[in-house]
Amino acid sequence: MRRTPTLALTLCLLLMAPAFVLIAQDPMPQETPPAAAGARPGFTPPSNDPQPYEKVITKDAKTKSGLFKVHQVKDKFYYEIPKSELGKEYLWVTQIARTTLGVGYGGQALGRRVVRWEMGDNNKIYLRNINYSVVADPKLPIAQAVEASNNDTILMAFNVAAWGPNNETAVIEVGRLFTTDIFEFSARQRLNATTMDPTRSFIERISPYPQNIEAEASQTYTRIAPPAGAPQAPGNPFTGAGINPGSATVVVHFSMVKLPENPMMPRLFDERVGYFSINNFDYGRDEHRAQQRTYITRWRLEKKDPNAEMSEPVKPIVYYIDAATPVKWRPFMIKGVEKWQKAFEAAGFKNAIIAKMAPTKKEDPDFSPEDARYSVIRWLPSTIENASGPHVSDPRTGEILESDIQFYHNIMNLQRSWYFLQAGALDKRVQKLPMPDDLMGTLIEYVAAHEVGHTLGFQHNMKASSNYPQDKVRDRNWVHKMGHTPTLMDYSRFNYVAQPED
Ligand SMILES: [Zn+2]
Repeated sequence: MRRTPTLALTLCLLLMAPAFVLIAQDPMPQETPPAAAGARPGFTPPSNDPQPYEKVITKDAKTKSGLFKVHQVKDKFYYEIPKSELGKEYLWVTQIARTTLGVGYGGQALGRRVVRWEMGDNNKIYLRNINYSVVADPKLPIAQAVEASNNDTILMAFNVAAWGPNNETAVIEVGRLFTTDIFEFSARQRLNATTMDPTRSFIERISPYPQNIEAEASQTYTRIAPPAGAPQAPGNPFTGAGINPGSATVVVHFSMVKLPENPMMPRLFDERVGYFSINNFDYGRDEHRAQQRTYITRWRLEKKDPNAEMSEPVKPIVYYIDAATPVKWRPFMIKGVEKWQKAFEAAGFKNAIIAKMAPTKKEDPDFSPEDARYSVIRWLPSTIENASGPHVSDPRTGEILESDIQFYHNIMNLQRSWYFLQAGALDKRVQKLPMPDDLMGTLIEYVAAHEVGHTLGFQHNMKASSNYPQDKVRDRNWVHKMGHTPTLMDYSRFNYVAQPED
């Protein structure tokens, strides 16, 4: 139903930024006590210099391998970053995985950005935020000016704790990254909290995979009660009004996914086709003005057999149905996703889009719906009468990398009311409530297909239905062939134009 465009969300967070800067002044805990100042005689403060590897990654370390090695030594977590990964680009997605009452639902995104790990002088590693709103071909002279006007923000600086074997890796302690308030990753604005308390925040787990690292941290936020009589900021219906005055602990999930090293060829947006899009100003082009380039967001489907008229894709689009979904609705959710197969067949792809049940904790303890490698249709225990289909795309090319659709429990109530009102005169099944489950299932299937449509890159299309003449929509044979609406990306769910006598 309603969509949550990635861009709009990001803009919203950016615009809110200045108002929050003033209260973003939590002191950063020091990695090591500052040297010199106040040093006691005879006391040598620990050095910031890299230590021998074995002294940092001791034999007690629990190590997991993946994109980077992740070591846990007691309560400390270390990333061992291969030098070959420095300078590469990653998408960083922050989500609230478990929240508190009144502040949205688990699985809602907080923000998305492109980041890069970079070597600094004096044994430092920087995590930088990369902005793609202005670009230029790096081979052109103007690229220098574009870079100079758009310096990449350092989100956090780390001391190299040790150099790895053969000097090929840098080991850094990453605790602060997940347990202190970094404006760009923080849930504070969403929670409407005043501060975050690092002493009541800790890392739950960090799991590296070949293409991504998933981290989860419990973070405790505090909100100071507004003075009596002060105006209250209105709450967002989807995210709530924020936490109550006092403290709240939430679980925040951080996904860091490697962006494709071989970026997809972008496709220019054409306003006649309603795709979601990304844009940037490309100063490297030959036109006599700064050219804004707009690209559509789309999945990267490539034929296994490029010469075949019909081929399976190299990598199909896979949606997992949340294990929290009520059992009786699951088959309808799967059907709603796979309804799109027909459209892809017209484009020469077989089995382009597939739905599967998400594994249970027992089947795959490593599966996490927040894992950015997986697109998941989440079922949320909420009285909100809606569903939304946002997606995450590569800001360089528009390639859709992942999507998590949100199904709020009470979407069923909305479906029931709409169907009752719009089709009640035509369909006996709804003339007595509750309506049968198979009918509700069909309505859920329709919503699933519509939301998947958004995550395939389509905006709403409320115009196309104006091409269907009213008398045709009342003509049984015509509707049988053409349907009552040309697109399921409209809100014209049910044929309420047809009358009982038609
Ligand atoms: Zn919609």
